[in-house]
Amino acid sequence: MSSVRDLLAEARARLAGTSPEPRLDSEVLLAFALKRERTWLFAHPETGLAEADAARFHALVQQRVRGVPVNYLTGRREFWSLALAVTPDTLIPRPETEQLVEIVLELDLPRNARVLDLGTGSGAIALALGQERPDWRLVATDRSAAALAVAAGNAKRLALANIAFASGDWFDALPAGAIFDLVVSNPPYIPDADPHLARGDLRFEPRDALASGEDGLRDLGAIIDRAPEFLRPGGWLWLEHGFDQREAVMAMLAQRGFRDCRHHADAAGNPRNSGGRWESGSRTGT
Ligand code: GLN
Repeated sequence: MSSVRDLLAEARARLAGTSPEPRLDSEVLLAFALKRERTWLFAHPETGLAEADAARFHALVQQRVRGVPVNYLTGRREFWSLALAVTPDTLIPRPETEQLVEIVLELDLPRNARVLDLGTGSGAIALALGQERPDWRLVATDRSAAALAVAAGNAKRLALANIAFASGDWFDALPAGAIFDLVVSNPPYIPDADPHLARGDLRFEPRDALASGEDGLRDLGAIIDRAPEFLRPGGWLWLEHGFDQREAVMAMLAQRGFRDCRHHADAAGNPRNSGGRWESGSRTGT
């Protein structure tokens, strides 16, 4: 019978060449296979594992060796301290996107703001905002019905009742005349030919949620173009984008008539989120 310690050591060695974090991955996967907390492993290094548990763990490690992201193996990802379900139909939410949540929580919005999260994926942004601001009324969209089902399941499990879900391509998901105080999105923004798409976790994530045309700006541009139809005067648009897209996004916002345009760097110091305000009297551009 192999002990917890032996199994972890073996898995670490197998993952050493393929995972950037062999130790963490081994611990997370063993805890998941045993339906225990990770801390339990540290307290029970000598415990012997039943054959079936060890086999389940080996199968998970095998998939991880093939490159499958840990979060798809466990079906869970922590975002804004919410335990979200994720599947290969959804992007795995990133810490950079938590910063987008932080930024929009600081905006001067009405107590019962109407807020739109475009391309919600697992629901990360909408769920974090819905949790922080129970009086906000949120709409979360996605063109993938499978992703929307994951997001709606997350809302239900977290008992967040202030989020409605709508299926469709960006603003096409909404009824005519829908108006918001804030539109927020983490759209795909990686250039189609970017080599990162063929590396690490990204290989297993939905390409639709990552890549956006030759320059990565196709979806950002489409959202900026139509957002004014759906914003009240003074309403905000905030977008996550690539580290090298700040100037292009700020230029598109300004050209479309957004005012008060700003941007924030992420924790690594890269420009990551930009936004602007749709003032009454802004050029409509139509
Ligand atoms: N920030 C992610 C990455 O580069 C991409 C997320 C996105 O395209 N919205 O891995």
